[in-house]
Amino acid sequence: MRGNYCEIQMVNLRLPQILAPCLAASLLALPVLAAAAPNISPLGNVPDWSSIEQYQGTITRDEFKRLLETVYCPRGISGNLLQLEAEVVRIRIDREQESWFTLRFAKDEGARKPVPRAWRPLEALPRAPAGRELEGLKIAIDPGHIGGSWAQMEERWFQVGDSEPIKEGDMTLHVAKLLAPRLRKLGATVSLVRDKPEPVTPKRPNDLSEVSRKILLRAGNPKPRDDYDGPADPQKDQTLRWQNELLFYRNSEIRQRAAIVNDDLRRDVVLCLHFNAEGWDDPKNPKLIDRNHLHMLVNGSYLDAELEFDDVRFEMLKRLLSRTYTEELPLSEKLAETMARRTHLPPYEYTTPNVVKVGTTGYVYARNLIATRLYHAPVIYFEPYVMNSDEVFWRIQEGDYDGIRNVNGTDRPSIYREYADGVIDGLVEYYRARCK
Ligand SMILES: [Zn+2]
Repeated sequence: MRGNYCEIQMVNLRLPQILAPCLAASLLALPVLAAAAPNISPLGNVPDWSSIEQYQGTITRDEFKRLLETVYCPRGISGNLLQLEAEVVRIRIDREQESWFTLRFAKDEGARKPVPRAWRPLEALPRAPAGRELEGLKIAIDPGHIGGSWAQMEERWFQVGDSEPIKEGDMTLHVAKLLAPRLRKLGATVSLVRDKPEPVTPKRPNDLSEVSRKILLRAGNPKPRDDYDGPADPQKDQTLRWQNELLFYRNSEIRQRAAIVNDDLRRDVVLCLHFNAEGWDDPKNPKLIDRNHLHMLVNGSYLDAELEFDDVRFEMLKRLLSRTYTEELPLSEKLAETMARRTHLPPYEYTTPNVVKVGTTGYVYARNLIATRLYHAPVIYFEPYVMNSDEVFWRIQEGDYDGIRNVNGTDRPSIYREYADGVIDGLVEYYRARCK
């Protein structure tokens, strides 16, 4: 595993201008040949800026500025990309050309138009009977990663000696399957974005060779190797196979999940389930450590290099204007509180500059992941438990079970049920306001 935590970051390289729209099309729609030559992120879609028109007059300058400075661009944004004026904000449509989108602010809160959105915040949900806190709530559960034989490719797999291999994608699916019936019992309509170990994208790594080759060439690999077929090796990371796989599981797969949520499901909230990990080096001889922690992610904290992409800039603006943050933050804070109560885990402290801490619990960070950016609903992104901590490793080896067992000297519930309990507690406590 290369990152020191679970991440689904975008590939941060520029592609030739005409390439990306064709690739996006290969995933979701018919090919679009863009005359304006937009600068699109790998596998990204050409933005439809006309869809932002509906947000004219729906936000005051003060609120826009606050969200921009504290959540979405806490390190600032270049005047080449966004210009905040007295009555409007101008956002560059095309990085390569002088074309700008202008959004008019509402004069004040009283003059503000309602925010158009498909999902319903807590205050827009109808009242619910006691004990049915989630009545009518539409929830999508996204079990993070891919499982089974795919886990090794994704580097969310390790094995200690002859023990049962740890596969994050199987573990998240198990939590999802524990959660779904319990949420339904509380009145929610629940869908799993993935209900089996296999990927949901119809693409496979080799389908992405053309994009991979361009990315590697751009990164300074004049002749990407396509003959390497051995195990993961940092020295050989820049091979075509490695790049194909990365695009497949970290990009194509997540985009397809977003398409499922956005087109088919129309959910009020998306729960992205993960288990965290720290660097384990050799997956066949992993390091077990004594650190264990919890954090939650909401969308935000865009980096300059990410905002250079026309589609990413567009998606950030859409996310800001649809006010997902105003639902994500209080719900994430409530869930952080209940997860911490169940797991007794301390907050994770990031040491990298790609996040900003938000809220007051110490557990919630804003970060720009494809999953937190592309789902058109509030996204609650869970990162509890360090899988390669000594404590968690033995709990995972114990599997799922009823009640309490002594695990490595301590009485514990099943780690899967403890996770599910923390999620249920938080949702019930947050939506309980409907029952009053
Ligand atoms: Zn993960």
